[in-house]
Order: sequence, then structure tokens, then C-alpha cells
Amino acid sequence: MHEKNFRRCVACRQSKHQNDMLRLSRINGEFVFDYENRLGGRGAYVCKNEDCIKLAIKKRLFNRSFKSNIPIEVYENLEEYAQNNKLSGVCKEIK
Ligand SMILES: [Zn+2]
Repeated sequence: MHEKNFRRCVACRQSKHQNDMLRLSRINGEFVFDYENRLGGRGAYVCKNEDCIKLAIKKRLFNRSFKSNIPIEVYENLEEYAQNNKLSGVCKEIK
């Protein structure tokens, strides 16, 4: 069992506090990144680190979580986010 603020990453499958993760929400059929964890709807999470984000993009891991085809633009936004925020390269819990 995990605390309620812990979420599982789509890439490394580890559970972390949601503050360390980026949430993708589906709202009215649209996929939006919930940068401040304020949106409702169904969500899936990825760690805020370059490794997990790259893997999520490369393997389109959010598609699996949502069981739907997420537009490529969503993944492009994710890549941009990682670059803009200069996220560190490794997921410290596994390396
Ligand atoms: Zn991760």
C-alpha cells in the first residue's frame, strides 16, 4: 500500500510523491499536462527526470495507461517541458 499522494511512474514503475511527478490528465477527451497538479479527471504520471520522460516519449507509455492513442503533440510538449526545465538525467532511485 502506498500513501495517497504517491503515484506510479509510467516509465520506471516506481511510486513516488506526486510532487516529483508530472501528471497527464484526460479532460473531456483532451490530454493535458497538469503542471501544478490541479486538474481533475483521469491521470497518469511520469517522474520529473529526463530518463523517465525520454522513455515515456520513446515508447509512448501514456498510450498504454490511457488505453488510447495520444496525439504526438502531447509527447512533443513533454519533450519541450523536459528541455525547458533542464531536468536532470537520471532517476536516482534506480541508478
Ligand atoms: Zn520514473
